[in-house]
Amino acid sequence: MLAKSEEDMLFFECPGCDMIHGISHGSGEGPRWGWNGDVEKPTFTPSVLVRYRWSDGDRVCHSFVTHGRIQFLGDCTHKLAGQTVELPDWEDEA
Ligand SMILES: [Zn+2]
Repeated sequence: MLAKSEEDMLFFECPGCDMIHGISHGSGEGPRWGWNGDVEKPTFTPSVLVRYRWSDGDRVCHSFVTHGRIQFLGDCTHKLAGQTVELPDWEDEA
């Protein structure tokens, strides 16, 4: 499931990266994703591509989030590349 902040940001916990990814939806500046409005079984379009640098090199996380499941594409650098898993429950660490 998702966490919402502000008006147009959504966050999900990525089980491949063990970190939070965020997307913007709706109208406004920058890249925007389509969202089905469901925090329990979200669908985002198009795919979510996250690139970042970690201590041991560049990482890529590329996924389709569809109906509450994450389909990781083969270009992911993490262990879940090519697999489809349930979106984990949001753990509020506050
Ligand atoms: Zn990820």
